[in-house]
Amino acid sequence: MTDSFLKLTVLGSGTSTGVPVLGCHCAVCSSTEPRNNRTRCSALLEWSGHKVLIDTATDFRQQALREGIEQVDSVFYTHAHADHVHGIDDLRTFTLRTGKAIPVYAARDVLDRIQELFSYIFSEADVPGYRPRLQVNEVTGPFELFGQKVTPIPLMHGPGESLGYRIGNLAYVVDCSAIPESSWALLEGLDVLIIDALRFREHESHFSISSAIEIARQLRVPRTLLTHLTHDVDYARHSTGLPEGIEFAYDGQTITLPLSSR
Ligand SMILES: [Zn+2]
Ligand SMILES: [Zn+2]
Ligand SMILES: [Zn+2]
Repeated sequence: MTDSFLKLTVLGSGTSTGVPVLGCHCAVCSSTEPRNNRTRCSALLEWSGHKVLIDTATDFRQQALREGIEQVDSVFYTHAHADHVHGIDDLRTFTLRTGKAIPVYAARDVLDRIQELFSYIFSEADVPGYRPRLQVNEVTGPFELFGQKVTPIPLMHGPGESLGYRIGNLAYVVDCSAIPESSWALLEGLDVLIIDALRFREHESHFSISSAIEIARQLRVPRTLLTHLTHDVDYARHSTGLPEGIEFAYDGQTITLPLSSR
């Protein structure tokens, strides 16, 4: 029985530049440790035989090849920054094969921005085969998808906003620098948290590693994965310094957990 489980695959654990950073020869960028190789931040969720992407990162095509993704049933967007959206055109391969539109979910301003950035996808005039077919859904609160409740979690991302997503007792929370008061309750009782933890130093639009650890502690989450990492993080060297229950995410990492009945 696989349908009572939720599987998450870390498609990309890297920040907007990816790691290695182009032209950088630091120890992490030159490392042969595969967990220091980070594509742009994204995840795949699977339940009841359905595959749902969180964001279409710049590296989506390579991520899909690496993980053998041959089907995409929906996409949840966190926000419209380039690193989370720019793989959108590769959805075309999937919709061309099925002839069906993929339902995408995002906040209103994110949908507007995606439609502005990729107007050819939504233009009536273009030839349909050369663009992905997407069916847009505005997220205004919790919604049902493939028999599960999906809870969006409003987050602050520097001067902007983003949406985290919770399914069962797993929450995916990127990109963010603060959790609004009203969102804390949505993160209670988690078993797994995947959270933005850019680097050791503070950043105005992202949690640092220490602030992400502090949030995991406050939420009493048994297992937390730190993601959206820069080349400041050397997987093996810095993993030893993390508290119990906290780990760095890496590309290709998977987590399976039972689906709650919320
Ligand atoms: Zn990002
Ligand atoms: Zn580097
Ligand atoms: Zn961002």
